[in-house]
Amino acid sequence: MLKFFLAMTKLIYDTCLIRTGLKGSDSTLIERALFKVAKKWIAGNTMEEAIRYARDANANGMEAIINRLGEHMTLEAQIESTVSEYLSLVSNMRKARISGGISVKPTQVGLAKDAGECASNLGKIIGEALKSQSFVWIDMESSEYTDGTISIYLGLFEKYERIGIALQANMKRTEADLRMLLGRGAKVRLVKGAYRESARNAFKTRQEVDANYKRLAGMLFQDGNEFAIATHDSAMIRHAILLASKHERKFEFQMLKGIRDELKPSLIRDGYAISEYIPYGTNWLPYSIRRLKERKRNILLLGSSFLHSA
Ligand SMILES: Cc1cc2nc3c(=O)[nH]c(=O)nc-3n(C[C@H](O)[C@H](O)[C@H](O)COP(=O)(O)OP(=O)(O)OC[C@H]3O[C@@H](n4cnc5c(N)ncnc54)[C@H](O)[C@@H]3O)c2cc1C
Repeated sequence: MLKFFLAMTKLIYDTCLIRTGLKGSDSTLIERALFKVAKKWIAGNTMEEAIRYARDANANGMEAIINRLGEHMTLEAQIESTVSEYLSLVSNMRKARISGGISVKPTQVGLAKDAGECASNLGKIIGEALKSQSFVWIDMESSEYTDGTISIYLGLFEKYERIGIALQANMKRTEADLRMLLGRGAKVRLVKGAYRESARNAFKTRQEVDANYKRLAGMLFQDGNEFAIATHDSAMIRHAILLASKHERKFEFQMLKGIRDELKPSLIRDGYAISEYIPYGTNWLPYSIRRLKERKRNILLLGSSFLHSA
């Protein structure tokens, strides 16, 4: 029975990895099972659900960073609709008095189509966010977009102060990028990196990525201010706490909705600032698959959800 359960789960997992566009009645069951698991990580399909969840995060002592799910958009209509969604998100967050900001993936506002268009769209969103002093984070995506993302960030950072950029510790280039960005006073969110990259560009073992994460965190505490340590890894968090005891810096921990929920209140009690990253929207599959891949144990969650949906 257990063997069958594991085999089924693996099959669903592999199917989901191969098929990012679930269609047809055979996949309805898989989609339903996966959505049940994905609900742990996303607020729901609508902006209202995200704002409701953000209000809870604020009530629990955390800032909220809302992200509209979606990536790799190349159609003008899709890009325009995402930009206008972010504009109303920011304005609705202001009305709901949400404390925090938003996080935007460059390829959802044009980077996969035209870098100039992406920069201008981000500028519009940041302009709106400024009205309520909301912070705008720019997510980092796969390596073909790293140069474009950094150069757009630097262009915007000359005009707007309350914007930050994510950098990935799994990338070999990040140490040099971080040094350059710190020299310009940039605000950085340090993550391990969620995208599959080649060994030419990226560290491949957990030990290497963790060692680089610690090295980069050391650079942030040495030369940065207003940065984010975005990880769920207790070892990285302990390391940051140690660094914070030696360097007085304005920084926060950032974690994703639905992960390490037991740890968040204890960090808050100890006086650390925490932001929770809250994604919403119907395009939840690629994001959920990245979360599934990060922790093999999540495949069991998917298997059990599948059995209950069948
Ligand atoms: C706020 C925030 C913003 C991010 N922005 C970006 C970005 O812009 N670009 C990018 O490439 N990546 C981004 N990421 C994702 C990041 O790169 C990692 O993929 C992700 O955070 C997992 O790495 P980790 O540091 O938590 O360490 P890991 O070594 O993956 O995990 C450490 C521990 O955390 C727990 N954990 C981690 N993931 C899960 C999970 N899915 N389910 C349950 N438990 C889990 C487990 O206890 C695990 O042992 C972001 C992450 C955060 C928190």
